[in-house]
Amino acid sequence: MGYDDLYPPQRLATAQRAAAEAGLDALLISPGSDLRYLTGYHAHAQERLTLLVLPAQGEPTLIVPTLERPAAEASPASRTGVRIVDYPDGTDPYPLVARALAGPVRTVGLGNRMWAEQVLALRAALPDATQRLAGDVLRALRLRKSPAEVAALREAGAAIDAVHARMAEWLRPGRTEAEVAADIAGAIREVGHARADFAIVAAGPHAASPHHDSSDRPIGVGEPVVVDIGGTMPSGYCSDSTRCYVLGTPPPEFVDHYRVLHEAQRAAVAAVRPGVTAEAVDAVAREVITEAGYGAAFLHRTGHGIGLDGHEDPYLVAGNALPLEPGMAFSIEPGIYLAGRHGARIEDIVVCTPDGVERLNTTSRELVQL
Ligand code: ZN
Ligand code: ZN
Repeated sequence: MGYDDLYPPQRLATAQRAAAEAGLDALLISPGSDLRYLTGYHAHAQERLTLLVLPAQGEPTLIVPTLERPAAEASPASRTGVRIVDYPDGTDPYPLVARALAGPVRTVGLGNRMWAEQVLALRAALPDATQRLAGDVLRALRLRKSPAEVAALREAGAAIDAVHARMAEWLRPGRTEAEVAADIAGAIREVGHARADFAIVAAGPHAASPHHDSSDRPIGVGEPVVVDIGGTMPSGYCSDSTRCYVLGTPPPEFVDHYRVLHEAQRAAVAAVRPGVTAEAVDAVAREVITEAGYGAAFLHRTGHGIGLDGHEDPYLVAGNALPLEPGMAFSIEPGIYLAGRHGARIEDIVVCTPDGVERLNTTSRELVQL
């Protein structure tokens, strides 16, 4: 799989057309997933301005600090036809933005996660332009993954599955959550991720908090452990998978919760197909858990989209009537959280296909006894 498949050079032209249709005269995109999506350039966010200036009509320009010019030229961005303009340290880069636009603009779309200091500097540099969110345009493009993007997510899913498969190496009574999490983070890189993004190891009562940060508490025998892990592959695409483990024999009531959760996750995955809405999939998971009497213990939405960001559209949540389409990739991760006792979550990344769904995580979803 080549970079041209993953980051096709024609994406800039597609985004230009989408911007024009949305009534935006230009998109202004700083480092982050939008810049990488559009150009393949993986620039790190810093105080020096790096900015893709993408007019709805006309030539795109990538403004970079002079010291970053070689990196920009070596990146896939150089194959998109974008003009690279650099500025030396100590000079003001913002006048370059107006110059790159080569004419007055009324409305610009700014990258949704641009730093506030850049937003305000761009307002001063383009005083006649109304600022909007570029995400209004880019969301629709990024939402449906290309076959190359799905392949990159499949590769990420297989990599994180390989880490879950090794859990018995690390998860032992008496070791702390933090010790286990550190081992997992190392393994996430060993299996091919460029970076470990998170390793949640939540044992016993800690598992009742969905985003518990691994602590120095030793893991006890009989305690269910929620392990939610993910990273970013060299391709830029992310992994995210949760499994539950128990050292020894779990409490009987947990076994009952887990059976309900397992069924909720299975039913929600089975509900995924084109035309079904994002909120309908959430409702399927919620109904199973609510009917079993644990509705109030399912504290969060059923899932989030995934791609170049670990969390992105579409969100599987009540109120999101977006119909699913082939190529949309997201997590299905219902949970049951009982404060002071324990918690459980099962999470797979899935992709909507023309006739249903493909799971990108395939390790056993049974409670794993170690
Ligand atoms: Zn997730
Ligand atoms: Zn997760």
